[in-house]
Amino acid sequence: MTVKTIDHTTTDKNSPRELDAVIVGAGFAGLYMLHRLRQQGLVARVFEAGDEIGGTWYWNRYPGARCDVESLEYSYQFSEELQQEWEWTERYASQPEILKYINHVADRFDLRRDIQLNTRVVQAAFNVGDARWHIATDAGDAVSAKFCIMATGCLSSTNLPNFDGITDFHGPTYHTGNWPHETIDFSGKRVGIIGTGSSAVQAIPIVADQAAHLTVFQRTPNYSVPAQNMPLDPAIQQAVKADYANVRANNSQMPFAWGARYKLPEDAALAATPAQRQNEYEERWQIGGLPFIGAYSDLLFNQAANDTAAEFIRGKIREIVQDPKVAELLSPRHVVGCKRLCADTHYYATFNRTNVRLVDISADPIERITTAGLRAKGEDFAFDCIIFATGFDAMTGSLAKIDIRGKNNLALKEKWQAGPRTYLGLGTAGFPNFFTISGPGSPSVLTNMLVSIEQHVNWIGACIEHMRRHQFVTIEPTVQAEDAWVEHVNSVADMSLFPTCNSWYLGANLPGKPRVFMPYVGYPPYVEKCNEVVAKGYDGFVLATATATKTEPCPA
Ligand SMILES: Cc1cc2nc3c(=O)[nH]c(=O)nc-3n(C[C@H](O)[C@H](O)[C@H](O)COP(=O)(O)OP(=O)(O)OC[C@H]3O[C@@H](n4cnc5c(N)ncnc54)[C@H](O)[C@@H]3O)c2cc1C
Repeated sequence: MTVKTIDHTTTDKNSPRELDAVIVGAGFAGLYMLHRLRQQGLVARVFEAGDEIGGTWYWNRYPGARCDVESLEYSYQFSEELQQEWEWTERYASQPEILKYINHVADRFDLRRDIQLNTRVVQAAFNVGDARWHIATDAGDAVSAKFCIMATGCLSSTNLPNFDGITDFHGPTYHTGNWPHETIDFSGKRVGIIGTGSSAVQAIPIVADQAAHLTVFQRTPNYSVPAQNMPLDPAIQQAVKADYANVRANNSQMPFAWGARYKLPEDAALAATPAQRQNEYEERWQIGGLPFIGAYSDLLFNQAANDTAAEFIRGKIREIVQDPKVAELLSPRHVVGCKRLCADTHYYATFNRTNVRLVDISADPIERITTAGLRAKGEDFAFDCIIFATGFDAMTGSLAKIDIRGKNNLALKEKWQAGPRTYLGLGTAGFPNFFTISGPGSPSVLTNMLVSIEQHVNWIGACIEHMRRHQFVTIEPTVQAEDAWVEHVNSVADMSLFPTCNSWYLGANLPGKPRVFMPYVGYPPYVEKCNEVVAKGYDGFVLATATATKTEPCPA
């Protein structure tokens, strides 16, 4: 890799070398951040590692990939014209449709001219002398910018376990999170798939339909509720569009920023009779997807309440899956919802097919990959291809791959070695003018991420505008505010059942990753806190002018 020498002498604002902001990543977050900063008159450039824009929806092209938050909600709201003109075709849009939407947005707002593709940011260092970030890419670019904004995504760094013999297999291998662009035809093939998380749950029914035989290796079963996906009823689309402002406003009051169009939970599960609960869960099962978890207000806070929902889903699995042993293996025992609930189309029924075999590797992990397939539980399995549905190094993975240095050459990786430390998931002490969109410590992956992304982009945009108006040169969180926030994030999580299982929210899917609950539970209180911080003049942040540092609240 060649890294060009940074030219500090360039002063032209429009020169590509000296920018107001560098944005890393061209998914939903990076695109909107670019649009917002441009509207504020800033010169910004996006660097994107992929050879196209789209982020998640560019990389995750596996069969069956689609959103689990309804399309009408999983979309931008910053432009009324955009949300009125775009027509979704399905209740839950497929990956190609979402990617088409993202490309439409890029064209509509003329974003491409400031996006550099095929370019991975490898280094970002803050220089106290000129108060700028100096950024290097694997394409040899060296630029400097006042602000460095990480739109690198929470689920953008694929996790491939270090199986023995990983390179020995003679056939093709695929990772769901980095799927080839050409259509893969599994017809007549013996396929092995490792993993049973959200991506696998979407892919398995489709691969099983094509393949001669599919073997599914399951470490932990997951709860899945049928998505009840269908063509989007034009009347529903019209009704939502006629009232979009209210739909969005109501969602922003929901704990996870989606789903206000469905019946809200009124009661505690434990206050209902068994028959009432059964009816409620059945109704939610028919609605489909994530709204299931909204059945009762105590499901994510009370183990006994959660057990009633868990047992309902296990009952459904027993009903659907004909072989009781297979049904038992597919039945999760952990808390429903402490891992993101899956939304599927015919997942459990797929295990009734004669060409599908489930192999439980919970007690006996895969021994090795072999030239012919893999070896597990003392048995050799032969495959024509293997699919790794092994998820992501979530929330911090893509940041950890960049050499990020703050003041005093402090490495972010070093600062975060015991787990990420941020204030509001937006910034981290010692790293001035450095922002993370949907960073750890913010609601991010627990929510409809489009809502969280827009809230962060708007907050960062307003902060930068505030700095310009008051001639502040740098902003960074105080260590005290950050410490208090980290403690608060943990204490809120501990009030819920979220930390009770080995989820990627906790980093528990990766050996050696610190076990820390990373997202913040509760969208509305989070937004309230962000707004309060601004109203109090960026309380908890240090703002510095060229000559002085201001730790006292300044005018909002
Ligand atoms: C299969 C799947 C389905 C999902 N479904 C939903 C859903 O229904 N609802 C929901 O709310 N969320 C969902 N998510 C989460 C999804 O990631 C977010 O909704 C959203 O797309 C994230 O956008 P982003 O721009 O923050 O990040 P991403 O879309 O992940 O984009 C980040 C980009 O940064 C680039 N990048 C990273 N590091 C570098 C670097 N060093 N240099 C240059 N570029 C870099 C990556 O290549 C990537 O393109 C899903 C995730 C997956 C994987």
